[in-house]
Amino acid sequence: MAIRDIHILGSPVLRHRAEEIETVDDEVRALVEDLFDTMAAASGVGLAANQIGVARRVAVINAEGQTFAMINPRIVEADGRDSTEEGCLSIPDAFAEVARPQRIVLEALNEDGEPIRMDATALVARAVQHELDHLDGVLFIDHLSPLKRQLLVSRWKKDHRNEPLTRTPRLEEPEETA
Ligand SMILES: [Zn+2]
Repeated sequence: MAIRDIHILGSPVLRHRAEEIETVDDEVRALVEDLFDTMAAASGVGLAANQIGVARRVAVINAEGQTFAMINPRIVEADGRDSTEEGCLSIPDAFAEVARPQRIVLEALNEDGEPIRMDATALVARAVQHELDHLDGVLFIDHLSPLKRQLLVSRWKKDHRNEPLTRTPRLEEPEETA
């Protein structure tokens, strides 16, 4: 169990399509633990393995009181449409409205290798879709119009130039965790 450094825009692993997990073994469970620890340290609502430098299809969610791991996740149903401001631990300080299906049905394996099927809406549905994108090498900025994306990325690069491609999650001050 460890808090891992988070990879930042520009790190190639964020653009890799993560590999399927063949067997949910202790190594995969250790990866799940690291993802949970790192997500908590960064106060995130979700984190994908690519974001800690591991291109394998594993991600975790902690949104609206629902905390779970998803291994080889798939979205098998999606409907509705919802546009909400979104951000990403791998693109710090950047936010933009992203339209996504409002409701999804997710199928995955849990950390015991058992199949799970889950109906998710609102923030949980959004977080799941955001993490699945990461496993395909897709970032939320890829959902923006070319012009918006270009503006956001050029501004971001200006603000974050000369920064390393990984960063240690900032631990929240206790008074901020209300
Ligand atoms: Zn992200």
